[in-house]
Amino acid sequence: MSIDLKGLDSLEMEHWAREHGFPAYRGRQIHSWLFRRLAASFDDMSDLPKSLRSFLAREATLNHLELVDSLYSEDGTRKYLFELVDGMTIESVLIPERDHWTLCVSSQVGCAMGCRFCLTGRQGFKRNLSPAEIVDQVIQVRRSMESPERLTNIVLMGMGEPLANYENVVRALRILVSETGMNFSHRKITLSTSGLVPEMIRLGKDITVNLAVSLNAADNETRNNLMPVNRRYPIEALLDACRAFPLPHRRMITFEYILIDGINDTKEDARRLLKHLSGLRAKVNLIPLNPHHGSPFSSPPLERILAFQEMLLDHHLTAIIRKSKGQDILAACGQLSGKHPATGA
Ligand code: SAH
Ligand code: SF4
Repeated sequence: MSIDLKGLDSLEMEHWAREHGFPAYRGRQIHSWLFRRLAASFDDMSDLPKSLRSFLAREATLNHLELVDSLYSEDGTRKYLFELVDGMTIESVLIPERDHWTLCVSSQVGCAMGCRFCLTGRQGFKRNLSPAEIVDQVIQVRRSMESPERLTNIVLMGMGEPLANYENVVRALRILVSETGMNFSHRKITLSTSGLVPEMIRLGKDITVNLAVSLNAADNETRNNLMPVNRRYPIEALLDACRAFPLPHRRMITFEYILIDGINDTKEDARRLLKHLSGLRAKVNLIPLNPHHGSPFSSPPLERILAFQEMLLDHHLTAIIRKSKGQDILAACGQLSGKHPATGA
């Protein structure tokens, strides 16, 4: 069976090399070609002997994704459409920030969580991504950039619920932060979850990354209606897990709160939210709902959004209004479907 090289860490690659009769340092060389030098083919690996290169071509998979299309937004956001080897498609979104780029990475094809406001959720679940398919999004996007080193931040906020694909996601994260590999900083990786409590607890023990929690409502009835996961893990259980989450010095948990017209946008909602988050090291990202075709929801008017924010700020809770980027190319939060609007393919 062909081996997924991009799902292996440095030690595993050394081991693989030895197992196949090559010295361990060849494994380290391959590792460096893949994650540092972003090799696009085994032939690029010019300091490997030809015999090893042809062995690799026979025995290993180098590319797990094929870039089939990319779209640019007016605001500089770029959306990549990748095809997987089984023909399914996923998306990654590269977002310009003031002095760096952030890549929004997918963890599953579709999503099983069924949140009512989310286009990915409406598609249903197709399958988990392998560690190599998650890591390859970062490699391929870097390869397409003029200054790959300026891609410093990663958010697991693309298609899928990362904690529902726990093992593969954690393995991918370990590869991304590995010092001999891509060397991303733990502080610059954020995992966003809809609130799978047992896996949140496990994550805190297994690896250090920033946590974002999609709260989106301040009472259980509203949250039950928007996010079926709340019936399993209601707000109180979710916030208990957040309180217990090990946070590095001066770090905070980000709570995402989509503002939906007439559903969760009153002053009373803001008051309840304040109460829930009191005592937590928390900041809030307010995301005016991104509309998509067939969704019954819309974003509140601007004055209500500002009033909601003001209420939180008045009580010393950091609250940022996150204008989603890339809306014109359906690259914003909750708009990823693995299909491109131009072709619908
Ligand atoms: N499954 C994970 C990560 C992917 S979703 C999670 O739910 O956290 C990433 C973010 O997009 C979540 O915060 C989600 O609440 C938000 N989102 C989904 N649909 C949206 C929409 N229509 N408008 C704005 N944000 C949306
Ligand atoms: Fe899945 Fe997140 Fe969308 Fe909910 S918001 S359906 S968890 S991707």
